[in-house]
Amino acid sequence: MTHRSLAPALEILERLIAFDTRSSESNLPLIEYVRGVLHGYGIEATLVHDATGTKANLFATIGPQDRGGLCLSGHTDVVPAGGQPWTVPAFAMTRAADRVLGRGVADMKGFLAVVLAMVPRFIEASRHTPVHLAFSYDEEVGCLGVRGLLSQLADAAVKPLACIIGEPTSMQVAVAHKGKRAYRCCVEGLAGHSALTHLGVNAADFAAEFVAYLRRTARDLRERGMHDAAFEPPYTTVHTGRISGGIALNVIPDHAEVEFEVRNLPGDDPGALIDAGRAYTERTLVPEMRAVHAGAAIEWHPLVDYPALADQPASAWLTHLVCAAAGNAKTRTVSFGTEGGLFQAIGVPTVVCGPGSIEQAHKADEYVTLAQLSQCLDFMDALAERIAAGPLHPA
Ligand SMILES: [Zn+2]
Repeated sequence: MTHRSLAPALEILERLIAFDTRSSESNLPLIEYVRGVLHGYGIEATLVHDATGTKANLFATIGPQDRGGLCLSGHTDVVPAGGQPWTVPAFAMTRAADRVLGRGVADMKGFLAVVLAMVPRFIEASRHTPVHLAFSYDEEVGCLGVRGLLSQLADAAVKPLACIIGEPTSMQVAVAHKGKRAYRCCVEGLAGHSALTHLGVNAADFAAEFVAYLRRTARDLRERGMHDAAFEPPYTTVHTGRISGGIALNVIPDHAEVEFEVRNLPGDDPGALIDAGRAYTERTLVPEMRAVHAGAAIEWHPLVDYPALADQPASAWLTHLVCAAAGNAKTRTVSFGTEGGLFQAIGVPTVVCGPGSIEQAHKADEYVTLAQLSQCLDFMDALAERIAAGPLHPA
């Protein structure tokens, strides 16, 4: 294997970091830059915009357009840097001896830069099997952006044969992760003087009962639910992350909120848990509240919903291929979510493998080592070699 120079990838990475692509901002300047880079190689990208027209996914195919190939996918958005103790500028690349620093270098602009630096190699390699690039927006706020692109791909005549998501796994091959569903439950009660508790509906009390219900559910899942030793922890979790309610000690709270999440094992149905939670609020809590005040209610607002990535038999050939290219036969799971389950849901076998560690993501002085970026370049080289060698799928 040739050891390629990191210089082109670092040059691109420096440009990518300088775009402030926090999920709250437009990603179009970055997307236009990427489109320009691809155009320079004669590759025309398709953009799939959001409803406001201020964000877009980018999809491009290198090589034959009439058949599916290997898709390399990553998100262009990053989490905020404000309020964190950064010692270097967050939206500029800082070079140190063995690493580069900046918001998104690990999660996941380092991967995008390596992919873009390898485009000339992919052009050579893709005479028979194409390489697709899928760059999304709004991943960090619940894998929202990529859905627009995937709904188009699901109906398209040509769909990728497989996908590699370049989230930071320290270049290990991850074949599965949990799914996530999160909700805000707003409890609407009735205010009153705290001496006259029987005339009001204490929203904080009912919120607390719901939190206790969630806690019982979590304990049940831990003690009696499905277990899978590949995951840490090896069961589906339920977690309350935020509760609020009340304005003063001597006022019956008329409003309270609970935010909670379910992180389910692949194969465990989060929908059944959510349905049971809704049934508990509707059949047990709300009737008791309405006995005092007809307008009382518990309203559910969805916050996050993405599916698990499962290690499926249909993906075994891809896992084999990617492990060979990564030079590491050992697969793992990851504790964080990715867009991978959404690709899998439209029938595209998917694994996760990218440079840098999730330990450095979302933190001050986020970094990726030069060794990790080099390893990713070698990985892309090996993938290119594999693509050039013949059909991806042993049909
Ligand atoms: Zn990420």
